[in-house]
Amino acid sequence: MAKIPFAKAYKNTDNEKNISVKELESIKISDPSNDIFNNLYCPTNGCNAKLSFKHSYVKSRKSFLSTWSNQIHSNYCNLQLIYVAKKNEMKKSSKRTGLNNNDISNIFDYGMSKFVKKNKKSKNKKKDRKSKNKSEHKDNNTKEKESKRASLSSNDITKKNDDSKRYPLKYLTPNDIGIKYVGSTVLLFGNINKINITKNKTLRINIEFNNKNITVESSKDFFRSEPSLLSELNILKKIFDKHKTNLKLLAITNIIPYDEKLVPTIYKSNHLCFTDDTNSTKNTLYTIIYKLQNKYKD
Ligand SMILES: [Zn+2]
Repeated sequence: MAKIPFAKAYKNTDNEKNISVKELESIKISDPSNDIFNNLYCPTNGCNAKLSFKHSYVKSRKSFLSTWSNQIHSNYCNLQLIYVAKKNEMKKSSKRTGLNNNDISNIFDYGMSKFVKKNKKSKNKKKDRKSKNKSEHKDNNTKEKESKRASLSSNDITKKNDDSKRYPLKYLTPNDIGIKYVGSTVLLFGNINKINITKNKTLRINIEFNNKNITVESSKDFFRSEPSLLSELNILKKIFDKHKTNLKLLAITNIIPYDEKLVPTIYKSNHLCFTDDTNSTKNTLYTIIYKLQNKYKD
């Protein structure tokens, strides 16, 4: 996560100057009680939040600057993001529990019904009449099964038709992402614009909804825990680049501030779910690749 890079010492006085963590480290060693340590401020113009210098005496940890606990950065200060993130992290770390496969499946079901199936409601209604004719279109049959499954699960599990209460997640599109979600886990939905894998093995999926787009990124450990994913995602990227499919993404992400931007971050491959226009079923990475490969056989 981004750190406060430097402080403004003796802010708004004649002695005002920028001072880096490194410089502060050497002062701490030569003159531990130097009064500069009581005169460190946020470097943002107009923001007067006081900073403290945390000196690390061990090599395994780095020294850093942090905001005094009773201090608040001004609203427009970029560094307030770091402050908010830290606060949220502390608040949530005790609550944050891993989602099991059942949770994930239900989250995607709810996301599908919220973002995808909603648009097809009128069509589905017609199909609800009980025509169990097996000679019917394969497509129709699957859709019917789906709508049944969806209504079944939402009634069974919550009885209030509201999975959002059971799973305290926000179901968002790129337009909704803002500071208030920093540190939160959210389900993001959008049409995939571009899939990219950077040289240092970061997966980037740019998604769009209502003309607003955002890039979802993989965490540092994303490929480390599942090395075979890299080749799978490369296949998906190739198919996508070549055929410009109408793929949509549902992703369970955590909103992390980085480089003055908010980055929805993915930690596991099963936090990604794909769907396309032809059938609104949820697909894992592996099933969507299988389907696309068959669809676009060369
Ligand atoms: Zn500030």
